[in-house]
Amino acid sequence: MLRKRDGTCVLVRQNGKLLGSYDLDEDQEIDIGSGNHISIESGSVRMTSADCPDQICIRQGKISTEGAMITCLPNRVTVQVMGDDAAGETGLDAIAY
Ligand SMILES: [Zn+2]
Repeated sequence: MLRKRDGTCVLVRQNGKLLGSYDLDEDQEIDIGSGNHISIESGSVRMTSADCPDQICIRQGKISTEGAMITCLPNRVTVQVMGDDAAGETGLDAIAY
């Protein structure tokens, strides 16, 4: 059985493109494009503001376990919590462009 583990980082994508990865251990505020804003606080992440009409991403609340994801469908934004083992295969160094 898969055990739920706390994630270590957050991957932010828009239109399927990786915009950045952020450490879950570090409290921070991040703007995603023009319409979305996320906050990382005490090891969890949540969408704090969004200009989408449905606001479903906001209602998804805080996530912190590996593999958990917040999706803002109208803005094509995803915020995904990843663990240590995933860091390599998602190519964290690829975002240094
Ligand atoms: Zn949304």
